[in-house]
Amino acid sequence: MGTPVRELDLLAHIRREGARLPNWVKIKPGDDLALVADSPSNLLVGADQLIEGRHFVTGTPWELVARKAIARNVSDVAAMAALPMATLATVAAPKGFQQARELFDALNAAAQRLNCPLIGGDYATQERADVPLVISVSILARPRADGRVLERKGARAGDLLVATGRLGGSLGPHGLGRHLTFQPRVAEAQALCDLTGDRLHALIDISDGLGIDAGRLAEANGLQAVIDAALLPTAEACDWKQALSDGEDYELLAALAAPAPDDLAGTRVSVVGMLREIPAADSRRCVVLSEGRELDASAHGWQHG
Ligand SMILES: [Mg+2]
Repeated sequence: MGTPVRELDLLAHIRREGARLPNWVKIKPGDDLALVADSPSNLLVGADQLIEGRHFVTGTPWELVARKAIARNVSDVAAMAALPMATLATVAAPKGFQQARELFDALNAAAQRLNCPLIGGDYATQERADVPLVISVSILARPRADGRVLERKGARAGDLLVATGRLGGSLGPHGLGRHLTFQPRVAEAQALCDLTGDRLHALIDISDGLGIDAGRLAEANGLQAVIDAALLPTAEACDWKQALSDGEDYELLAALAAPAPDDLAGTRVSVVGMLREIPAADSRRCVVLSEGRELDASAHGWQHG
């Protein structure tokens, strides 16, 4: 437990941590903005937030909450086959919140470990004590050395749908499951890109559930995703419905016009289905084949608000 933090104390604290930043951060935290000197000509930027009670259970250790806040953004970087550079974080805490230092230490540590050091941020307390804590993280990322950036768009009918890792049950018992500890698939995306080149057509990360995210990938290309329930790499104690619907997996889903490798950077890889032309008068973007039946899967998934 910490003591109440004045904003000036916290800024001094963040500034001290800033001493460890890479030297391409030319103006470190403590000024009005950070200056990033080696920014590539194409820079990828994104933002994501975690709301207490919605994206993590109240009482979850701050270390895990902070890790998830950073890792979700890094997963989006992986989904573009890009490389993380730096993060910025803001926290809006309920009145009387006592653990700002611990939280920023944890954000800083997670950002360092995931290769996107924290280069700025802000902390504010809300008017009331009975409101959820909100963490917002922005991320900067650079494209691969060959300049290639993978999008959702680019897939073709006949492409295989290929997923990393195992799916389902990520929230876990008491909300303390894999969604707090997953490893963003940055290395796997790089390996897939290196290995398959132009035959890798599109990429997305599975955050809201395979059914929804495969549907998004299909929709971006005017196609329909067909998932085979028997092929799903289910996490332990999960059935195919959970693998399709639970969400918060943060695995990669690729559209590939090539045989899939068995593993990428030590992570297992599975073919889970394919993309096809969407049949006339069919509006379903993702269907799942199970025991000879085709069920609508695009509605199965966990929708972030
Ligand atoms: Mg994403």
